[in-house]
Amino acid sequence: TQPLVTSTVKTTCPYCGVGCGVLATPQADGSVTIAGDPDHPANFGRLCSKGSALGETLSLEGRLLHPEINDERASWDDALDLVASRFQAAIAEHGPQSVAIYGSGQLLTEDYYVANKLMKGFIGAANIDTNSRLCMASSVAGHKRAFGSDTVPGNYEDLEQADLIVLVGSNLGWCHPVLYQRIVAARTARPDLKVVLIDPRRTVSADIAELHLPVAPDGDSALFVGLLAHLDHLGVTNSDYISAYTKGFEATLLAAEDWDIARVAEATGLSPLSITRFYDLFARTAKVVTVYSQGVNQSAAGTDKVNAIINCHLATGRIGKPGMGPCSVTGQPNAMGGREVGGLANMLAAHMDFAPETVDRVSRFWGSDRVAEAPGLKAVDLFAAMGRGEIKAVWIMATNPVDSMPEADAVRDALKACPFVVVSDMNRATDTMDLAHVRLPAAGWGEKDGTVTNSERRISRQRPFLALPGEARPDWWIIKEVARRLGHAKAFGYFSPGQIFAEHVALSAFENDGNRDFDLSGLGGADYETMPPVQWPVRSKPIARMFGDGRYFTPDGKARFLPIQPPPPFAPAPGSFVLNTGRVRDHWHTMTRTGKAARLSAHMAEPFVEIHPADANALGIRRANLVRLSNRHGSALVRALVTDRQQRGQLFVPMHWTDQFASNGRIDALVTSKVDPVSNQPALKMALVHAEPV
Ligand code: SF4
Repeated sequence: TQPLVTSTVKTTCPYCGVGCGVLATPQADGSVTIAGDPDHPANFGRLCSKGSALGETLSLEGRLLHPEINDERASWDDALDLVASRFQAAIAEHGPQSVAIYGSGQLLTEDYYVANKLMKGFIGAANIDTNSRLCMASSVAGHKRAFGSDTVPGNYEDLEQADLIVLVGSNLGWCHPVLYQRIVAARTARPDLKVVLIDPRRTVSADIAELHLPVAPDGDSALFVGLLAHLDHLGVTNSDYISAYTKGFEATLLAAEDWDIARVAEATGLSPLSITRFYDLFARTAKVVTVYSQGVNQSAAGTDKVNAIINCHLATGRIGKPGMGPCSVTGQPNAMGGREVGGLANMLAAHMDFAPETVDRVSRFWGSDRVAEAPGLKAVDLFAAMGRGEIKAVWIMATNPVDSMPEADAVRDALKACPFVVVSDMNRATDTMDLAHVRLPAAGWGEKDGTVTNSERRISRQRPFLALPGEARPDWWIIKEVARRLGHAKAFGYFSPGQIFAEHVALSAFENDGNRDFDLSGLGGADYETMPPVQWPVRSKPIARMFGDGRYFTPDGKARFLPIQPPPPFAPAPGSFVLNTGRVRDHWHTMTRTGKAARLSAHMAEPFVEIHPADANALGIRRANLVRLSNRHGSALVRALVTDRQQRGQLFVPMHWTDQFASNGRIDALVTSKVDPVSNQPALKMALVHAEPV
């Protein structure tokens, strides 16, 4: 890699949704020194192991450096012409619903904006979905049901101001380490700050918890429905807040009233004593933040879980105030930015849905008369439609669905059968790239220029400090060149990411009556190059805090309670295990970047399965044995990690390893594609598998 500058550049980490500020300084010997940005409000100089090793992941090893057509090197013109002509032909013969884009929370907001505009605005179908569907679609749906908008209410500093932090389905210690570090520092300064961990596994995050509740898989809804009933029995609900700012409390309470502690204990597998301790802690602590993540979202009941949590905060009025509120943390660096531009198939743009008036508004803004009028195919449905032969051309950007989608073998088969597959990515060596007819070399972190939004709605700049290698190009450039060839040169006449961001800002402000949460109107005219991290909404008249005035984005301005019916306890057939998947501390997604840093691989060198000692003993599995996991969708080979951190009847396997790094290690081949009916997010933590020693 060649340095673009010799001075220090302020940029943002490309990994998790904490969105830490990074100082990158290219050195004369070609290396890059990495440090945390002391001025960035997400991390104040901190970095985790992945962030601090970023400089070790910048080699060109494994990079795609030239366009390719059918495995042969090609010119950009030939590759772009072919992409445009094949998409054009599919649309002409089979209609706009026959083509699709599958994007990624790794894309920058500007890339996402241009891709979404092309698909929804000018191709005229909403078949653009993203791997963020696997990450936080249930939080989006839960927010919209409760608040009328996809708004994360809180700020990171709430974690330091809270007296109780409840972590639900979130191993913050490994998956959002800098937020964890902030909590550890806050506890050191203020030992009265209490932490409760609700997670089937005793993860590293239990180290700071007064109480760990090893809830049964999908038992979280019952736990929070029972909490609502308990808060009411204790008389600690906030009737003034409920009557002034919410609707639906009575019906929600009615649905919850049978959930006494005995019933909750039965549904969750928790002891009545530990449930009572948690409930009483929540009831008597005013400043409570409930942090939730993939353990809540990646479930066939994920949206209900989100609303069960939000119900408890609304009922106590603990929202929109310092040190309290529900707090969804996203897995990816720009899951939020993708949501903002409409990078999900069920959102149009700038947090607007497909209502006739918003389609009309966006049509006029984009100057297009063919804006999609209804949601498109969401991730699982998209690949299923492809498997049925309904998708004739697909463009995959910056993600590796052959390894990361549930029922990954079926996804691989669908892509093999798709007549035309385009993949734009920085990496040549991925299992998805292997199936592409056209490969387009995209810019990577350190080369890209644009913005990302973190879990607290803070927009930060990613800035380049390395020259584009080979013939790599930014994603926005690649997409606009295809749009130009499809006949949309005027609408896609972009020459810089700053220009795209300005259009995104303008769309957020366009005919905005103040009843839309996503509003960047106050950024109009801001200097893109020097723009500091900024939290939205950014209006000409700043607001102190989201929902601080009790006004929500529903038509009547009131938040909604949702009556929740917890799912029945999950009872796998004898001989089956419930497979939970997730992250390890030092790897990211399918390891295309972190796999390059030797010290990151030193933490966990190969794929493993956490199994309880009693289960291991019953199966004749000893420590470090190879274990085959299988079900009707596929199989994987992993190393046994025998530990009582795991509950009996449950297994945990990390999601990262692919056949590029470990033979037969693709765990998502076994994961079910069953989805939440509201959010269409797959239940990535609830597959049933068999285990046997090899
Ligand atoms: Fe990067 Fe997340 Fe680590 Fe921060 S916590 S350095 S954003 S991986």
